[in-house]
Amino acid sequence: MTGEETIVAISTPPGRGGLGVVRLSGARAIEIATSLIQFSKLPLETQHATLGIFTEPNSGRALDQAVVTCYRAPHSYTAEDLVEISCHGSPVILRHLVQCCLAAGARAAEPGEFTLRAFLNGRIDLTQADAIRDLIESQTLYQARVAARQLEGSLSRHLKPHKQTLLNLIAKMEAGIDFAEDDVAVIEWQEIVTQLDRISVDLQGLVRGFEFGRIVREGLTLAIVGRPNVGKSSLFNRLLNEERAIVTPIPGTTRDPVTETANLGGIPLRFVDTAGIRAAVDEVERIGVERSFAAIADSDLRLMVVDASAPWTEDDSRLLDKLRPLGALLVALNKSDLVSHPSWLEATKGLGISPAFTAGGAAQSDESEELQEENGNAEGTSPQVVHTSALTGDGISELKEKILALAAPSRDLGMEGEFITNLRHQQLLKASLEGIAKARRAADEHTYHEMLLLDLYDALRPLDLITGATYADDVLDIIFKTFCVGK
Ligand code: GDP
Repeated sequence: MTGEETIVAISTPPGRGGLGVVRLSGARAIEIATSLIQFSKLPLETQHATLGIFTEPNSGRALDQAVVTCYRAPHSYTAEDLVEISCHGSPVILRHLVQCCLAAGARAAEPGEFTLRAFLNGRIDLTQADAIRDLIESQTLYQARVAARQLEGSLSRHLKPHKQTLLNLIAKMEAGIDFAEDDVAVIEWQEIVTQLDRISVDLQGLVRGFEFGRIVREGLTLAIVGRPNVGKSSLFNRLLNEERAIVTPIPGTTRDPVTETANLGGIPLRFVDTAGIRAAVDEVERIGVERSFAAIADSDLRLMVVDASAPWTEDDSRLLDKLRPLGALLVALNKSDLVSHPSWLEATKGLGISPAFTAGGAAQSDESEELQEENGNAEGTSPQVVHTSALTGDGISELKEKILALAAPSRDLGMEGEFITNLRHQQLLKASLEGIAKARRAADEHTYHEMLLLDLYDALRPLDLITGATYADDVLDIIFKTFCVGK
């Protein structure tokens, strides 16, 4: 299909700008462009910017100056003949140019169709197509770097040796089966098990890394809760101000009343506005029925703010009890610049917050460390505690560290290790691991080669689906429909 139809779309975002780009791809791209734009010299030089005049075909009237870059197959984004026409960024001119291209025989491009053609023409694999979308949608430089690495083919390169190992095993076993009578040396069982184990360990690491990868890609939500006047807004502003706020917040769902998004260590951190439940916090009994409490429960983690200079109240206890079963929870003992109220020492004893934390210092007793270790931050256990002062900024960097550590425990993978950011990849890796586990059992039990072969294919197929070596059209639809038109 590729190349036969020439496709056209505006590739720059909607609205007015200094420049706007219309892109054409396919066998007639250059012919259509040169029929609409007058150049002083033809043919156009490949990969050179050439100035021309966009002229209305009917009236012959000049409409705009255009800088045109033409690429000849296969050396283009789509691996087809491709033309980029850069005009002044007026939506009227750009739309008219597209209309003229359509009248000249081009077809309007579907969402993601330029990238789809790049994939179908073998210029990029599916992981790279995913990476292009992630790069375009990135909100932080860190996200962009992660996507750029995947665009270079890092994930495919990582999987390649595993695919090769599986293929080698398959080839040897196929040979063993096909030439059973010819006495072809059959591979040792133990060698199969060793090789499968090696792949399994690595793939499991990738699957685990998804927890962090998902957060890098999608960001995380933090609900800040607490009684009035404890310093929630002040802490919120501290967290926002210290990091560059992200200009375009990810639109939240209606159940997710997002207010602002900050960039926390390269990860978009969305704050869930809990203003709606502030009144309800005083009547904690009602909190469960508050609609906005659902947003708190849905958040990736919760930050309960308390005023350490004021007496500990029953409301604090009840709120803490409500929050604990919801999962990841941090407690900020705020206003640490003031003297801690003595009631803290007594009140927090039975709450799983170690009194050592309330003594106003960073010192943590051995006992409290053990307590934290033992309890982790699982359901109904002790929350992580941090002393903060929204006034002086003390403890804010520690708070950020704790937020990241809690939300993304495998963050140490960082940029050094490979990690996946895509749910489709994670599911396919899990499927491959299942195949490997079955194959390993079969090898352990010295099962028939035919059975083991089936399992090896089950392990290999999902890896091929990740890179797109094999694919189904409906999967392509799902992936490329998430692109915008013009990409
Ligand atoms: P919220 O109602 O929980 O959002 O609380 P605010 O952020 O509006 O703060 C309530 C009051 O406490 C304001 O007067 C703040 O200036 C003050 N405040 C907030 N954080 C601190 C802090 O860390 N130390 C001190 N001394 N005052 C603070």
